[in-house]
Amino acid sequence: MILTQSSKLRDVCYEIRGPVPAEAARMEAQGHQILKLNIGNPAPFGFEAPDEILVDMIKNLPTAQGYSDSRGIPAARRAVAQYYQMRGMPGIELDDVFLGNGVSELIQMVCQALVDDGDEVLIPQPDYPLWTAAVSLAGGRAVHYRCDEQDSWWPDVSDIADRVTERTKAIVVINPNNPTGAVYPERVLREIVEVARKHGLLILADEIYDKILYDDAVHTPIGSLAPDLLTITFNGLSKAYRVAGFRAGWMTLYGPQDDATSFIEGLEVLSNMRLCPNVPAQHVVATALGGYQSINDLVLPGGRLREQRDVAYEGLSEIPGVSVVKAEGALYMFPKLDLEMYRIHSDEEFAYDLLRSKKLLVNHGTGFNYPEPDHLRLVTLPQADVLADAVDRIADHLASIRR
Ligand code: PLP
Repeated sequence: MILTQSSKLRDVCYEIRGPVPAEAARMEAQGHQILKLNIGNPAPFGFEAPDEILVDMIKNLPTAQGYSDSRGIPAARRAVAQYYQMRGMPGIELDDVFLGNGVSELIQMVCQALVDDGDEVLIPQPDYPLWTAAVSLAGGRAVHYRCDEQDSWWPDVSDIADRVTERTKAIVVINPNNPTGAVYPERVLREIVEVARKHGLLILADEIYDKILYDDAVHTPIGSLAPDLLTITFNGLSKAYRVAGFRAGWMTLYGPQDDATSFIEGLEVLSNMRLCPNVPAQHVVATALGGYQSINDLVLPGGRLREQRDVAYEGLSEIPGVSVVKAEGALYMFPKLDLEMYRIHSDEEFAYDLLRSKKLLVNHGTGFNYPEPDHLRLVTLPQADVLADAVDRIADHLASIRR
């Protein structure tokens, strides 16, 4: 029998780990050295978790051998609930918090519990493509709303409002944003809440970068602006605490649940079906949230992440025909290439060419569901000199395809 993938997967793709990175892996196997700027994974770039997290992980291993409660251990959920209580979301209880094997698992659980065939979910464009993939896998339709590069990559709220239909169930807000690095001001968030309020939409707030902020950027949890609506906020330890490999994330329900009891029961079923998230990692959630917030040292002036962001921004901005909005948060840049200046027909082909000629792996913008083939995403995690070298490789390659 020939095995074909299920039709559910027809529209599902996740290019961040797609064919271009697979080609990079093949080249590495042949002995090439590839500079890989395609994944927001801090550890390979020399970032380490705070010691207290590692020590606690090791210390708790003996007692973390069994399954836990499906939602996660109470100590971790209590710490998460308290975190959001302090961030303007009072009254969150233990059962409002679900831990997961990273935010990724929880995104998929929520989409499976929420979306029926043909249901629509509003998702930013460009997006973090797991959201689009998870909605598609659940049988729904990802409806992309415009984020405006000319306006700091903030969401175009009138575009959001125009795209609401009778099938719309939820709106996804990624703030701080991957891939653009935008941090949304409270005014924009309030306008989004207004659209959600008018149409009774669930708000899905992906705030995994809430502590990775540069300059004077301030992060406002959107849930704190909408106590009268149901919001699910996603966050975890992968980025700010640099332990992406531990697979530790959570989601928090906030706001009225009376109209959502069936949906929440669905979440419980799915949570039970995955038995429980990785237990050793759950033991460090409270330590991380309550401990020394070393991420601040990395993002403040003089901090490594901040310096790298500056190097990437300045280097990219100096390349003729390249423009980039300076990231105010997160770990990425999403530069635009001038297609009148450069011979680029497909941004994926461009990524392959850059890989083959310069041994540099970046993501192509259409992999983030961006409609035009004129953007790239790169992570700002490497040391400044490595990033400067990566920018030089991009500049050299572009010079070779100049019209
Ligand atoms: N959400 C966003 C916006 C991300 O950028 C990522 C990872 O890059 C995730 C969610 C998933 O994170 P994890 O599954 O490691 O918690």
